[in-house]
Amino acid sequence: MIRFRSAIFVCTLALLLAGGRAAPTAHAQGASSFVGEYHLQDFTLELKADGTIVLTHAPQQLGGKPNAWHGTWHVQGDTAIVRIVQASDGKPLPEPQEIRFTFVEGFPTIVGRIIPGITTNPDALTFTLGTGQRHPLVRQLNRLLAQYDYLNYKYPERNDDLYNETVRNAVANFQSSQRLSPTGAVDAHTWQALLKPIIPLPKTAPITHVQPTTTNVFIRSGPSTRAVALSKLQVGSVMDVVGKIVGATPETTWWQVCCVSDQKGWIRSDVVMVSGPTDVVPVVAPPAPPTPVPQTATKPGKPLIDHLPSHAPDGSPVAYLTFDDGPSTFTPKFLELLAQYHARGTFFVIGGSAKLHPDLVRAAATAGHYVGNHTYTHISLQGVSHETFINESELTRKTLLSEARDLFTLDGDVRYLRPPYGATDSHTRGYAAELGYQITLWDIDPMDWRRPGIEAISSHILRNVFPGAIVLMHDGGGDRSQSAAALEVVLRELSARGFMFYNIFGQ
Ligand SMILES: [Zn+2]
Repeated sequence: MIRFRSAIFVCTLALLLAGGRAAPTAHAQGASSFVGEYHLQDFTLELKADGTIVLTHAPQQLGGKPNAWHGTWHVQGDTAIVRIVQASDGKPLPEPQEIRFTFVEGFPTIVGRIIPGITTNPDALTFTLGTGQRHPLVRQLNRLLAQYDYLNYKYPERNDDLYNETVRNAVANFQSSQRLSPTGAVDAHTWQALLKPIIPLPKTAPITHVQPTTTNVFIRSGPSTRAVALSKLQVGSVMDVVGKIVGATPETTWWQVCCVSDQKGWIRSDVVMVSGPTDVVPVVAPPAPPTPVPQTATKPGKPLIDHLPSHAPDGSPVAYLTFDDGPSTFTPKFLELLAQYHARGTFFVIGGSAKLHPDLVRAAATAGHYVGNHTYTHISLQGVSHETFINESELTRKTLLSEARDLFTLDGDVRYLRPPYGATDSHTRGYAAELGYQITLWDIDPMDWRRPGIEAISSHILRNVFPGAIVLMHDGGGDRSQSAAALEVVLRELSARGFMFYNIFGQ
């Protein structure tokens, strides 16, 4: 997902130019259309109707006050000019800072200079629109999504300004179709593609669709439960049916669906609802029998992600809780809660933070959690050079190995990589493969880093969880007290539903 954060380098006041994006003619916007909340990296910028602004950022330490800057804004032509004049301590800034943005083809885009705390990839400087957010822009987004038959997305009857999980799924589907990282959050690149697809979206008539009946279902690489799972079709999502294998029973009848990235997949017919004509769906020959899937890793770094067990041997559903951006002063609370519920999870740590808190890395590993790689400086792995990729991933790996190798009993190494913001490209995915890293994304993103409230975080997870789901949360990069409190609710509720909690190694 595209969200932006500089966990390590917050607080430097860096002046950076928003990278390279020219500002074509913006549509005329009245001042009122700028009123609202905008997310930029780890910051929230609120433009109030009275002409004042608040820019907030998460505090780095437990009990710290949120960093907040104050100032004013006004509109000049098509551009909102935001002047930040006062720091969180109430003192005037030595030099007032300015953010200028305008709606470029309907999306807020920085056109001037930008302050504080952002020393990472200037290309990453963009506003985002994501889960939990209410904004008039979501209406525009809904209109854009609904115009593509391919997405089978309907303009919502209610709450058309709310970015909910259905919107997120549609955005992620669209991003996949455009070979963008399927983050489910809208940034300027995604918006541009929505206006003018990079890859033309096929029409889908005559259309036969499938959607899950009650729960999320696996899309497999072949018509058998032994075939590798390519992805999961989530409740509320639909896919096109492009072929079928007719078996003697619903369990042996399979629909072929299009597409998971470039691949066609298979879904068992008894777990989905079919709409549209089925007689137009061609019968296709089954692919070659799948090779049996090993149940455990055979060598270090052997990816299990595609076939993580969705259930424990006793039939209990399994959830995979993952925690990014630590270790931090909040991590002990997470460890304590996991221990209390006999839960195992996975910590994707930032190498630089691991160096500062080796004790927490060791505590996590000792407790049976898996410790994975989240780069050294929380850099976006989209568009980085081979050298940067190696530095960021290998430095983190070496740091973790030097601090806690004796405790890494799971694979004796650190071969699982979660790219910050979920961002990769075809080159960096190649680099990852070459170095033996398994890229690990997620199924459920409650956007806890935006601190939408304990209830919003926990209910998002509880509503969307399914057996085998990988859940993304954060134990670092800011004030994570909401995430910790939500984790407690999630562990309690899911335990009551019979869930077990494994690390990404399936243990
Ligand atoms: Zn992160």
